[in-house]
Amino acid sequence: MASFYVENFGCRATQADGAAIERQFQERGLDRADTPAQAKVVVLNTCTVTAAADQDARAAIRRIRRQNPDCQIVVTGCYAQRAPEEVAALPGVSCVVGNSHKHQIADLGLLTSDLGPQAANLETPALQPARTFVPLSSLTPAMPSPSSEVQGLMSDARGPIFVSDIFAHTELLAAPVFDAANQRTRPNLKVQDGCDNRCSFCVIPYVRGQSRSLPLARVLDEVNTLVAAGYREVVISGINLGRWGREAVVSQGVGAADDGRLMTDDRRLTTLIHSILAHTALEKLRISSVEPMDWSDDLIALVAGSPRIAKHAHVPMQSASDRVLRAMHRKYRPWHYREKIEKIRAAMPAAAIGADVMVGFPGESDADFEATRRMVDELPFTYLHVFTYSPRPGTPAAALPAQVPVELARQRNRVLRELAAEKKLAFMRSFVGETVEVITLNQSSAGYTECLTDNYLKLHLRGHHEANRWLTARVESVEDGAMFGTCSNPEGAPS
Ligand code: SF4
Repeated sequence: MASFYVENFGCRATQADGAAIERQFQERGLDRADTPAQAKVVVLNTCTVTAAADQDARAAIRRIRRQNPDCQIVVTGCYAQRAPEEVAALPGVSCVVGNSHKHQIADLGLLTSDLGPQAANLETPALQPARTFVPLSSLTPAMPSPSSEVQGLMSDARGPIFVSDIFAHTELLAAPVFDAANQRTRPNLKVQDGCDNRCSFCVIPYVRGQSRSLPLARVLDEVNTLVAAGYREVVISGINLGRWGREAVVSQGVGAADDGRLMTDDRRLTTLIHSILAHTALEKLRISSVEPMDWSDDLIALVAGSPRIAKHAHVPMQSASDRVLRAMHRKYRPWHYREKIEKIRAAMPAAAIGADVMVGFPGESDADFEATRRMVDELPFTYLHVFTYSPRPGTPAAALPAQVPVELARQRNRVLRELAAEKKLAFMRSFVGETVEVITLNQSSAGYTECLTDNYLKLHLRGHHEANRWLTARVESVEDGAMFGTCSNPEGAPS
């Protein structure tokens, strides 16, 4: 029987953590099972960004217990960090490991017989549950008890809990993530974790802790390893990527200059990007979400000026109502946001520009929503991620009056999604007759190969093309939300 299986929920950062957990087990010589039913230990790497995410984790625990009653279920990730006692009391859970201890998960002794001499060291001081467990109430005083629905699921028998104050932690768990659909093409590398902001709706800082960065040398090593393995595009990501290198702790050499000196001005995302371009042979670097105020003129010029950086800017907006942005504790005003997007578009006329938008934040009036709708309509977005607000226990927004009725929030969500779909379609149509750069993905169907353009559009390329190649395509049409085209560079003739 294979030894372990890691199931991930939630965002890219959580997937990166899951990849690093797998790496920990594999470095100890353990086998990865193909399914949870074949594993001795199943690690559920959870998300807690919405109430639905918690429900998904609880449903997975029940499913795995049914499929594989003899396995040990270890619950880690953001839900484990937020509500360790609640999770530990769910039937079937063997052990709870918060984000604070996730980097030591393979040392827990869960697979002692397989680990042999390297076996788990429960004597490691940091892993003593009784000593390091910090009740969440001491971290976030407003944290209420579990809902009556969850209380009904909890039992008295509990496994050990390994959770401590996440704000005391400076480790960063990182390993590239390979998308299931595109295993061989666009790995995602998390280079930053945690967040020093306190957006009033967001639980992430409480479960991921302070902002911290993967040191420059480690990033370059990871990228060079990926390039040597044949990857042509790498996506760098973080919880708050624009803060890369800004933490006070620079002793690890996060922002070290090439000669090893630490230079305050060098502790910036632009330094990291310049270094990746200078010290690796990576063909294409894609930058994931960066907060609006971190889109400096330097960053915009850098992305616009290098053919090795994908023309893609993801800039979280959340709302265009000044009142709502203030209540969210966001650090910019709507006019700042507009100015950034206009600068990005002026510098990169064909770039993908995307945003996260939240509807239904407590107190969001019709006028507030209309401000957001209008901004979305007026700015040159090419796609949107629209979220409906869901209260997270312990966050300031959860205690605000005037929670927006669910049906109204859903309706607002629909309005923005429809608007975003129209804008995306218009953007795609603007490329008909043009040539675009694409990377071929793994999947092919009915005479076409799936590709992604430099500016983040799906394109079906006529013929079968090997995965993981940069090609030039002529866009012929747009149908069912995707572009269709033919390869226009000689080396890319269909096989
Ligand atoms: S910037 Fe705000 S929304 Fe994003 S992770 Fe930090 S606190 Fe959460």
